[in-house]
Amino acid sequence: MPDSDGRRGEAATYCLEDVTFRYPSASNPALEGLSLEFGMATFTAVIGPNGAGKSTLVRLLGGILEPSGGSVSLDGRPLPSWDRSALARRTAVVSQDAPPEALRVSLQGYVELGRNPYVSPWAPLTIRDREVTEGALAWADLRHLADRRLAELSGGERQRAKLARAIAQEPGVLILDEPSAHLDFRHALWIFDALRERVHERALTVICATHDMQLASRYADRMILLAAGEAVAAGPPGEVLASPALAAAYGCEVRVEFLGDLGHSVLPVRARPR
Ligand code: ADP
Repeated sequence: MPDSDGRRGEAATYCLEDVTFRYPSASNPALEGLSLEFGMATFTAVIGPNGAGKSTLVRLLGGILEPSGGSVSLDGRPLPSWDRSALARRTAVVSQDAPPEALRVSLQGYVELGRNPYVSPWAPLTIRDREVTEGALAWADLRHLADRRLAELSGGERQRAKLARAIAQEPGVLILDEPSAHLDFRHALWIFDALRERVHERALTVICATHDMQLASRYADRMILLAAGEAVAAGPPGEVLASPALAAAYGCEVRVEFLGDLGHSVLPVRARPR
């Protein structure tokens, strides 16, 4: 895999070594022989066609799945050796799963759940926990909806609620699966911009699976292209998008245009016959 690395930080936060994962009911592995590093305080976008393995990678990094082969380590320690609460204080995952709407909880209560790794069971939230929760709600522009039930929010508001809950976790690493799905372009832009700011100002490490190549190329330091469970290109976004591996991975001729400060646009031209 050609890897021209755009990492700014020296230390790797996550390290995958020869990782393979196969779902029990599947005949082929979802990920195969994946070796990757994610640098501290960097923004990595993971792109790839449907079924490439992006969500599976997110679940492995979040410790939701364990690899069938190889290892995933965080801060130099294998993931299975992490205590659940310690892992949740270090890493937050914003998955594609819907938040539990059936939960009879307000948006405020839902975002407060992000403080769980810090509070002992049944102990009330501290003043600081409440301040962090308030800050996360304000950050996601959701304070005016704090008393609404989750089920009473739009798809975009729910997506921002998931993000606010993850931010309330005060993680050093934020792993996101399609964070701009369901969002209009103003809110999609806001998410990428806000994540980028936290990478710069709070040394947050961001790993983001996305189909939005323009925003990814504008805001990410580094891009990884997955195809059929393998990393087929990695490096600065402009290089990955210019690589012939892109059209091959998607089975589609593409036109890539450089937009200066706005990143790159990727226009599908013609689907190749399979
Ligand atoms: P992406 O997020 O890039 O669309 P996924 O990680 O969801 O890709 O899927 C990778 C591969 O694993 C696909 O072939 C998909 O069909 C398969 N897969 C995903 N989830 C499951 C599951 N729960 N059981 C069996 N196979 C799965």
